[in-house]
Amino acid sequence: MKNVTSLLAAAFAGVLLAAAPARAATLKVVATTQDLEALAKEVGGDKIETDSLAKGYQDPHQVEPKPSFILKLNKADLLIVVGRELEIGWLPPLINQARNPKIQAGADRYLDASQFAHILEIPTGQITRAMGDVHPQGNPHYWLSPENGRKIAQGIQKKLSEIDPGDAAYYSQRYADFDRRLGEAEKRWNAAMAPYKGVKIVTYHRSWPNFVETYGLNVVGYVEPKPGIPPSPSHSLELTQEMKKDNVKIIVIEPYFDAKTPQAIGRETGAQVVTLAPSVGGAKGAPVNDYISLFDYDVKTLVAAFQAAGVK
Ligand SMILES: [Zn+2]
Repeated sequence: MKNVTSLLAAAFAGVLLAAAPARAATLKVVATTQDLEALAKEVGGDKIETDSLAKGYQDPHQVEPKPSFILKLNKADLLIVVGRELEIGWLPPLINQARNPKIQAGADRYLDASQFAHILEIPTGQITRAMGDVHPQGNPHYWLSPENGRKIAQGIQKKLSEIDPGDAAYYSQRYADFDRRLGEAEKRWNAAMAPYKGVKIVTYHRSWPNFVETYGLNVVGYVEPKPGIPPSPSHSLELTQEMKKDNVKIIVIEPYFDAKTPQAIGRETGAQVVTLAPSVGGAKGAPVNDYISLFDYDVKTLVAAFQAAGVK
């Protein structure tokens, strides 16, 4: 009898031990894009579990909502969004249906990463439908500058430390390590891009203002007549004339747009069409799996295109 009791006691103690974890459960972080997920991973390491809704090869303005997104949002301890209305077409109903009060817009666990970033193209004056899909709060493709990536990572570090103060030193050390690696990589990218300062390019969508500001490139036109509006023959003709006049040799496109029109413009003007990755996970056949390799890929691909086009 005594044996049975002690066995039971031991078993019960075992259950208690198993039920009391040594440390807090891993935080579930959901980001709307793979870029923000990658930055969260840099800082959160193995203290967080991450997921992203939009994939890097998808147009982040237009993401098809899936039931699985609602489930992910329901379980999220933290939601990180790009903001500036990038996700306005698909995210709000998903958040509503997720039944997770913590991550509702404006709530404590809803982190708008744009608050940490340098935002370009904030419109002045009245915005009308005639202007196309202009974002009233500025250009939401701001993650494409390393300095913004650094500031976003720091913002995420602060947020994670607030939610999980016990691991604050860990997050701070991870951020410092990312900051150091990013700084080393920036020297590399700056050196590779330095010969091309002032080079005129055309891009499909206004995805690259922060990128071109970083490297001093000069965007003289867009394949889209207006943001979010598909190419039109009259605009393509105007753009072709402009490119011939300015001797533009590069058209940068995003992987999710139809390459037909830019290729036709390229044939007409002798310009190269180059597909860059606008996001982590956005390069076909290339392992662009983290924030630093995103810039490695884009800088390498762009420099190769400049060389092939005989730019400088
Ligand atoms: Zn856009």
